[in-house]
Amino acid sequence: MIQIKSEAEIASMREAGLVVGRTLHKLQAAVAPGMTTADLDAIAEESIRGEGAVPSFKGYRGFPACICTSINSEIVHGIPSAKAVIRDGDVVSIDCGAIVDGYHGDAAVTVPVGTVRPELLELLRVTEESLWHGIAAARLGGRLIDISRAIEGYIRSQSHPGGASWGIVEEYVGHGIGTEMHQDPQVYNYVGRRMARGPELVRGLALAVEPMVNLGTRSTRVLEDGWTVVTQDGAPSAHFEHTFTLTEAGPWVLTALDGGEARLKELGALRLTG
Ligand code: MG
Ligand code: MG
Repeated sequence: MIQIKSEAEIASMREAGLVVGRTLHKLQAAVAPGMTTADLDAIAEESIRGEGAVPSFKGYRGFPACICTSINSEIVHGIPSAKAVIRDGDVVSIDCGAIVDGYHGDAAVTVPVGTVRPELLELLRVTEESLWHGIAAARLGGRLIDISRAIEGYIRSQSHPGGASWGIVEEYVGHGIGTEMHQDPQVYNYVGRRMARGPELVRGLALAVEPMVNLGTRSTRVLEDGWTVVTQDGAPSAHFEHTFTLTEAGPWVLTALDGGEARLKELGALRLTG
């Protein structure tokens, strides 16, 4: 069931989103070669709890940490570990969730560490940009599939550094969000054959959009730990995510510190008011 939030509930989601956004900024600034992903998790826990919020990942279906950390060929759901050392040249996806007054925020970034191969930087750029194109395509009265179409369309419009096709992950998708982290509807990062146009985008709907793009093929598998999703061919992967809602003026990105204003203006997705 799709949960429609009141203005007051969206205000709580903004608070949760800001905790997530600020935590991800701290983590991005902290990431350095030689650190472990357990170090990042400790920073995240201190940041989230320090703001009086609750880390939503910890204990979620038994997940042991406050963030997911997924390095290089790991796509999503990597478990922070004192054994996982971050090296120069890595790309690290950090996914973070927090709860304020019972409402969730959920966002992710993929961070380049030190000197990173140009094709990896291009992978990150295309994936992040596709997220913004997806959000920018959402408008009141529109349909859910507008977002999926914009994400896939943007990715396919960008040339692949190896002359291949980008691997758009299909098994994991974005989602509605509110009093639970994962709610209806599912937000696909591609448009499948005979895919319905989905529900209407209305006031009070909140969505977490999260494209995952592989430099190689789109195929995935789950490691023995039962969580970590990796690319089947071992090629690197990127993941970006934001939680947003819709206003008369356009999308409001609850997990972006500026509400998404800068990027959405560039994409012409904000109606100028006042
Ligand atoms: Mg997430
Ligand atoms: Mg999510």
